Order: sequence, then C-alpha cells, then structure tokens
Amino acid sequence: MHYWKKLTRNEIRQRVDEALKQNINYYEQSILGIPASHLDGNVFNKDAAFLDNAPFLKTMVDNPNHIGCHTMGESEPFFAGTQKLEQELIGIVAEDILNCEHDAYDGYVASGGTEANIQAIWIYRNLFKKEFGAAYNEMCILCSEDSHYSMHKAGNVLHLDVVTVPVTDSSREITPESVDQQIQKAKASGKKYFIVVANMMTTMFGSVDDISVYSDALTKAGVQFKIHIDGAFGGFVYPFSTNSEVMTFANPLVSSVTLDAHKMVQAPFGTGIFIARKGLIDNVFTNEAQYVSGLDATLIGSRSGANAVAVWMILQTYGPHDWFEKIHILNHRSNWLCKQLEDTGVEFYRHPGSNIVTIRARFIPKELAHKYGLVPDQHNDNPQWYKIVIMEHVHIDRLIPFVEDLKELLHS
Ligand SMILES: *Cc1c(COP(=O)(O)O)cnc(C)c1O
Repeated sequence: MHYWKKLTRNEIRQRVDEALKQNINYYEQSILGIPASHLDGNVFNKDAAFLDNAPFLKTMVDNPNHIGCHTMGESEPFFAGTQKLEQELIGIVAEDILNCEHDAYDGYVASGGTEANIQAIWIYRNLFKKEFGAAYNEMCILCSEDSHYSMHKAGNVLHLDVVTVPVTDSSREITPESVDQQIQKAKASGKKYFIVVANMMTTMFGSVDDISVYSDALTKAGVQFKIHIDGAFGGFVYPFSTNSEVMTFANPLVSSVTLDAHKMVQAPFGTGIFIARKGLIDNVFTNEAQYVSGLDATLIGSRSGANAVAVWMILQTYGPHDWFEKIHILNHRSNWLCKQLEDTGVEFYRHPGSNIVTIRARFIPKELAHKYGLVPDQHNDNPQWYKIVIMEHVHIDRLIPFVEDLKELLHS
C-alpha cells in the first residue's frame, strides 16, 4: 500500500483544510484573470459554522476548478492544494487497487464512466492514427453485447464502428468462437486496428470478461489491439472480491481502466475515474488549450475539485481493510439472496463475489418488479431479465419481503 491508509475524521479534516489553504483565496488575494470565483455568497454562506466540520461542503463553497490532468507536468497553480489530493486519490486507485507501478500512470476524476470510456477510446483512436497512419474506418471498438451503451456513444462521437460479440445466454460469457467470428467479419470489412473494451462487471449482470479470449483471438488474427477495462460498476468491487489480478495493471495487456466512484463508493455524481498507463494520455493532448496551464488532456475541461476531494475522503475514511470488509458484507447479503432464489427454484445469473443478482424475467411478475424497483434489461413489453443490485441500503431485511412475496406468487 503506497498511498492508502485509513485516516481519522480529524486527520481528514486537517488534510482538506491544508489543501484548501494552498489554493487561492478569492477573498484575500487579488486574482484578476480567471473566470472563476467562490460560490455565490448570497446563496451559499461561506461562514456557516457547520462548514468547519464538513470538509466536502467547505470545498464545494470554495469551488476549486480541477481542469486538466494532474498526474502529469504542470497544472493550474491556483488550485494546487486540492489538485494534490486528486493526485493522491489517483495514486490510491492506480497503485493500491489496480496494482500499477509507482508513477507509471496518468489519470483524473472524470464526469462519469461514460466520459472515462470515451476518453480511453479517443486515446487509442489517436494512437492508431499516429503510430500506423490508420484511417477511422480501419479501426473498430470490440466489446461484448452486455457492454454499457457508452461504447455506442463513443463510436458515434469518435466516428468508429462498434463490433459486438454475442455472449452465452446463461453464463454471459464471450467464447473463443464468438470472438473469432466477429474478428473475422470485421477483418473482412477492412478492420485492422481493434480497441477492445473488456468488462470488469457489466451493468446488467455483473459479469466479467475473460481478457485472454480477446487477446488470444486478436493475436492469432495478426491485428493491432489495445485493451481498456470498463470497471465503471466493478472497479471498486471486483478487485476486492477476487484474488485474480488479470483485470489490473499487473496484466501487461491492460492499458487503461474506468471506475465510477458515484456507484459503489457512494460519492457525489460526477466522479468517474480514468486511469491509463503513463504516456498514453498524451495522444489526446489538446495543444490549442493554451489558456490552461499545463494544457489539457481530458475530455471534460472545467470540473469540480470538490468531487475529487469527496472520493479521496471516502477512501481515506475506510482504508483498504474496511473497504474489503464492506465489499464482503455485500457479498454475504448477495449469497443470502441467491440461496433463497435457489431454494425457490428461481433462475438467476450471478458472477462469483458480485453484488448484482439478475433474475430471469419469467419468474418475476411485472407488479413485483415495480413494487421493489427492480430494473429490467430492456424497458419494453418483453424484458428477459430483472436485476437486484445489493447496495449499502439493500439490507437483508429489505430483501426478505421481496423473497416472501416472490415465494407466495410462485406457489399460487
Ligand atoms: C454505469 C456504467 C457506465 C456509465 O457510467 P456513467 O457514470 O453513468 O457515465 C459504463 N459502464 C458500466 C459497466 C457501467 O456500469
């Protein structure tokens, strides 16, 4: 553990206070040139007494801008204090969670998983163009049919075709045959450069792709490829629920990873995390961003420093061991639910250690899905699956009435 150590509330408050002191103070200094200020004082009172014990809200009111990427070169000096905390946060995620070597990565807090995925695909598109003179129609995004729809957004925005690989119906796995077949089809239509997005827990099923199925097939096909991991849901779960390191930077095949702190970490929305091996992000440097000190290698532009501070605070409050315990409590509840479903003869999918349980829709009457807020795989008349996501608030006591209703309905 290089960065990640459990801190007390007091330590956290002190660290955030120190960071804010290293940022500019609009009230006391003459800062004339930037189009930014503290939050409107007529609406958000900066002197409210409770702010002293609320480092996140205090940061919100100070309103630092974290524009740019702070793991590389110079950044805006105005907000150096809180940007340093973001750098530390990226260090925790890259080194302590995803097994990257010290300082061998770049990363930033993005608006969400969607942006982080687009950022990754943007990087590889430019890389293939720069290194091989590849045309856009010679590249494609390769991912499973269970992948998040942000891959289709990325394809649309970046002008790339998306090639989807079918998965098996009950185990939600890509197979060597299905991957091979899609690669051959893509090659036949002129694709030579493949941007692979492998899932570290899909949105609907919590399923995890076997990267080696992609890499074996692409190597055999003799084409260029790069692998991005979409861990928007699973980034803060899977590394703690498995002993395998194949979805981390310990695997040389992994070039970049998306995680979302606003899902399992319960951080405010606007806290996607993007991490890539050092240097890759240079492919999306916007040299025209001349007014930003250190230029800009991110998709987003201006973004809230308070968001980065919030995620840093949460992870520092837990530390690695309490976080591990938290994930295992969710796993325990998921085990409980699965056991009930098995006893009732209800078919479902669940990846080992995952906190998503996805039930065949034929076992779930619509009223029941509605009553308990289950989410279908498709919002039409014919859903195939409904999922339950075991979040912090989904205690076994919340699951019991659902299970009882389900049993009653199935037996009547
Ligand atoms: C939620 C999710 C996304 C998109 O993340 P947003 O934060 O909603 O933009 C991408 N991929 C997966 C696997 C997800 O679960």
